[in-house]
Amino acid sequence: MATFDVRFLGCKVSHLDAQDVRARLLADGHTERADGDVAIVNTCCVTHEALSKSRQAATRAARTHRRVYLTGCAANLEGDALAGLPQNVIVVRRPSEDTPDAVAADVGALGCVNDVARLERVRAFVKIQDGCSFSCSFCVIPLVRGATRSRSADAVLREVRRRVEQGHPEVVLTGINLGCFRDRAAGYDLPRLVRAVGSTPGLARLRLSSIEINHVNDALVEALRETPTVSRHLHVPLQSGDDAVLRAMRRRYTSATYLRKLEPLAADFNLTSDVIVGFPTEDEAAFERTLATVEGAGLSRVHVFPYSPRPGTVTAADDRVPPAAKKERGVRLRALSDELERRRWRSKLGARDSVLVDRPGRGYGDDYTPFLVDAPVGELVEVRATSIAAEGIRAVAA
Ligand code: SF4
Repeated sequence: MATFDVRFLGCKVSHLDAQDVRARLLADGHTERADGDVAIVNTCCVTHEALSKSRQAATRAARTHRRVYLTGCAANLEGDALAGLPQNVIVVRRPSEDTPDAVAADVGALGCVNDVARLERVRAFVKIQDGCSFSCSFCVIPLVRGATRSRSADAVLREVRRRVEQGHPEVVLTGINLGCFRDRAAGYDLPRLVRAVGSTPGLARLRLSSIEINHVNDALVEALRETPTVSRHLHVPLQSGDDAVLRAMRRRYTSATYLRKLEPLAADFNLTSDVIVGFPTEDEAAFERTLATVEGAGLSRVHVFPYSPRPGTVTAADDRVPPAAKKERGVRLRALSDELERRRWRSKLGARDSVLVDRPGRGYGDDYTPFLVDAPVGELVEVRATSIAAEGIRAVAA
């Protein structure tokens, strides 16, 4: 029997992939321990910085573990991105669905002794889809994760039921491009899946991790609005508010489309987004248009990513915006994001909300607004918003 520990870098999908390896090793009878023989490092390569952090994590783990399995997006990069790692680091170059078996076979399976492990977090992320068949010019994800493919609706619904039975009050449907989810044989698309998952007995809250604007349509909005457990939060990547930059990014929408589709949602949904600053064709005027789009769309928070050329992509050799300009645009966009967020928080003062406490003293309201509350971790508590702090809204029991 081996002892192991698992860590991940990057997004929720990376977290889930790491959890799949963890569940598989536990099911095989291995033991999770911080100072294990074996480390699993599920990596990220979405930016140059993420790749270098992934390399560092594997190198650090190699000093304290007999064997390190480097899995995930960076493991699937072509070329010499992972050259020079310590000899006890094994790079597992596999699609995410094959990775747990590949790692387990190498660690040495002992036969099934445990049921599927409960996730470590209060909310359960459930993967419904992986990969992406689009080709945004800056994005390495289709190259390392492959084309889109979906789990069956039945498998998703069974996993959601199991997570609820294990005590997870909230489920987050997660994937690389959620709107591409399809189970053609069973007749499911994302709106139907939302309705079915949202009706799971005992489930308190359901969220989507993110959705592309091209997939925001009437059927989905109706499913979100008509399913009582669905959280009023949508994360909709913008990437740029300038049409020429969007075209160069090959994003397949205009800023007007983005604004038109979100406009009816801004009144009752908390809308958040991702934006890349310093894309090669982004000049100052284009960046100003992004600021205007962010404000016009009613977004409450923007995750800002400085552009970083990724190997194998259309723009791999183009990084012409100087680092100082990227930094300055990042600072301005983050300042706008902070201002918009505080504006939304202020509008909630005095109001009631249901907060799922996911860490000591902290949790998220029904629309994914962060709250500071004094209640046990894992509980869903009714609160009243009293004042604003740097990290969220302070609240007391209602
Ligand atoms: S950014 Fe574009 S290519 Fe990358 S995962 Fe999203 S939709 Fe797919």
